[in-house]
Amino acid sequence: MLTMVGYCWLCHQNLYFAHHGICHICNQRLKRLERVCPRCALPAESNNFLCGRCLKDPPPWQRLIAVTDYIPPLNQLIRRYKYHGAPQIAAVLARLFLLHWLQGYRDGRWNKPDCILGIPLHHQKRWQRGFDQVELIIKPLARWLQCQYQPNLLQRTRATLTQRGLSAAQRKTNLKYAFQLRGNFTDQHVAIFDDVITTGATLHETTQLLIRAGARSVQAWAICRTL
Ligand SMILES: [Zn+2]
Ligand SMILES: [Zn+2]
Repeated sequence: MLTMVGYCWLCHQNLYFAHHGICHICNQRLKRLERVCPRCALPAESNNFLCGRCLKDPPPWQRLIAVTDYIPPLNQLIRRYKYHGAPQIAAVLARLFLLHWLQGYRDGRWNKPDCILGIPLHHQKRWQRGFDQVELIIKPLARWLQCQYQPNLLQRTRATLTQRGLSAAQRKTNLKYAFQLRGNFTDQHVAIFDDVITTGATLHETTQLLIRAGARSVQAWAICRTL
């Protein structure tokens, strides 16, 4: 396989700092989510107020934090990471999320969670892929942020159909009892990470498990949020 170490994963130019993975120019060109509801990260009037949907029917998590929409070039990079055997992209994506998260943290928009959980892959998928894409991103993130991370606290108990193309009711049934939580989350501030958040149905199911287990707050973290 062609080694990309020392080159920007997006424009293939030489990198001054090889471990950054994405050059300064490509990083600046990424279209950040602007004017989105703080709770669901979908387009809204303002970054500071909940959108109409969340006012009417608030999701169980407190905040959804994502870097960009699921559009080129980042969606291509994520696909390459997941489906073309490039686990070395994990650190690049982790750093991208870290920088975005730190900015909001310094601006006082969110607090640091006590621990991070990942949306798990079913073991069959993990076996096919050879790695768990979420776990590889969370590991460096948890280390940099000094948050607790233990893989396997959240487990997928059965394989589920892909959520794409299912109605809202079908999605709910599809995910029912698909996850199991281990450990004590009483009074914990928890972040749940997924690489891409689309319908939010998986997030909904897992956040509710956490709340039932006593979690005080849940932040949803993702590299991309499909708009
Ligand atoms: Zn570049
Ligand atoms: Zn909203």
